Amino acid sequence: MIRKSVQNLTPYTPGEQPKLAKLIKLNTNENAYPPSPKVGEALSQMDFERLRLYPDPLCIRIRELIATEFGCSIDNIFVGNGSDEVLSLATEAFVENDGTIGFFNPSYSLYPVLTDIRDAKQVEFPLPETSEELAQLSKTNKLPDLFFLTNPNAPTSTIFSLEAIEEFCKNTDSVVIVDEAYGDFASQKSAATLIDKYPNLMVCRTLSKSYSLAGIRLGYLIGNIELIEALYKIKDSYNVNMLTQVAAIAALEDPEWMKENCKRICATRDRIKQELRNRGWFVAESQTNFLWAKPPAPFTAPELRDALRAEGIIIRYFSQEQTKDFIRITIGTDPQMDEMLEVIDNYKKYFFYVHKIIKD
Ligand code: PMP
Repeated sequence: MIRKSVQNLTPYTPGEQPKLAKLIKLNTNENAYPPSPKVGEALSQMDFERLRLYPDPLCIRIRELIATEFGCSIDNIFVGNGSDEVLSLATEAFVENDGTIGFFNPSYSLYPVLTDIRDAKQVEFPLPETSEELAQLSKTNKLPDLFFLTNPNAPTSTIFSLEAIEEFCKNTDSVVIVDEAYGDFASQKSAATLIDKYPNLMVCRTLSKSYSLAGIRLGYLIGNIELIEALYKIKDSYNVNMLTQVAAIAALEDPEWMKENCKRICATRDRIKQELRNRGWFVAESQTNFLWAKPPAPFTAPELRDALRAEGIIIRYFSQEQTKDFIRITIGTDPQMDEMLEVIDNYKKYFFYVHKIIKD
C-alpha cells in the first residue's frame, strides 16, 4: 500500500524543539531576537471575522513588497509555506520522473530527502572549497536537471562569490536554485540581481531567519516568469494561510527592523568567532547567523555537544563523515553566547582536572 520509495525513505530530521523553557537554544538557526513589533500589532488588530474566508491564493501584497525589495516584477515571485515547501514544489515542476537532482555535500540535509520523495536520482558533488572551483564545475560536468546551491552554505557558513555563481549558471541549461536562506546575514548582494541574465537561475529566500519568523512559515522563489508560472500551476490553491500573510506583510513593510537584528547578530557572530579562535578552535568564516566550529584536540565535537547539553545549551551536531568533527552553533544573544563560552571554559578545566587525578 505504501510506495517503495516512501517505505525506504530516511526522513529529514529537524533540529529538536525542546519543551523545557530554560534551555539556551542554539540548534536550529532561528533568530535570537523577536520580529518587528508591527507583526504583533497587525495580528492583534486583525478582524478575526475574516478567518471565515480563504486567504489570497496569489499572495499579491507579499509579492509586491518582495518585488520592491529586489527590483523585479511580482510575476517573478512565487510564495510558499516556508522555503521547504517551495523547494519541494520545484522538484515536482522541474524534474521528469526519471530525472536527476544535484547538491553539494555537505549542504542542507533536506535536499536528498526531497530527491528521494520525488523518486529522482541523487547526484552529489563534494562542496567546492573556493569560488574558483565552483565557477569551473559546470564547465567540466553535466549538471543534473535541478541543482540546489546553498549560498551562504549550511552547515559550513561559507559563501561563494556572485561571479562564481554566474559562471556556474552560464554553462548549463539545468535549473539552478540558489538557496539564500541566510542571505540577509551576508555582506554580498543577492543572486536575485542575476535572474534577468540567466533564465535557469532561481533564488530561494525565507522569512524564517533574518525576519525572525520561523513560526509563520513563509518562503519564496524569485526567477524567470515561465518557471514561476509552472509552480503556480501545481501548488495547493491556498498554500499560505491568512494569519501568515498578515504577519508577513507587516514584517516586509518594516525591513529596517530586520536589518538592525541582522547587524546585531553579525556583530555577536564575529566576536564569538574570535573568542573561539583564541581558545584554539577552528571556526570557518561565517556569512550566516551560525558558526561552523571544530574544537581543538583532545576535545571532540560530540563531547562538546554533550558538555553543553548537560548545562542546558543545545547546538547541532551532524554525525556524517564530512561533518562529524564540527558543531554548528546558532548565534544567540550576547549573554547567551557568553554563557556558552563559560561552559566551554569550565568543561576544559574539569577535563584536565579529571585527567590529572587519573594520572596521579
Ligand atoms: N534552506 C536552508 C539552507 C535552510 O537551512 C533552511 C532552514 N532549515 C531552509 C531552507 C528552510 O527554511 P524555511 O523555514 O523557510 O522552510
